[in-house]
Amino acid sequence: MSALPPCPQCNSAFTYEDAGVYICPECAHEWSPQGAAPAEAAEKVYRDSAGNVLRDGDTVTVIKDLKLKGSAGVVKMGTKVKNIRLVDSDHDIDCKVDGFGAMSLKSEFVKKV
Ligand SMILES: [Zn+2]
Repeated sequence: MSALPPCPQCNSAFTYEDAGVYICPECAHEWSPQGAAPAEAAEKVYRDSAGNVLRDGDTVTVIKDLKLKGSAGVVKMGTKVKNIRLVDSDHDIDCKVDGFGAMSLKSEFVKKV
């Protein structure tokens, strides 16, 4: 088990846990451990083809020609895509591509600018 977090009020390192609540023996502050490590671990990290971490609002370029399902269109390699939105799905980038409109891309086929 990892060390308990320091007290958010006085930064004391002597935090202990009692009945699911963290307690600081120095200033008597009590707080809930919710929102600590487990939530962070559950947060999905999106990476582009080069391993850069992607965030909402990033600009990326497409690294290969992507054929669009159900149409004759092809998003050319090098196409710049602004203001991406990351979603938890197989195609994990929602975006709008000039000339094509709204679409979903896979993060493995883009590179952060
Ligand atoms: Zn304290």
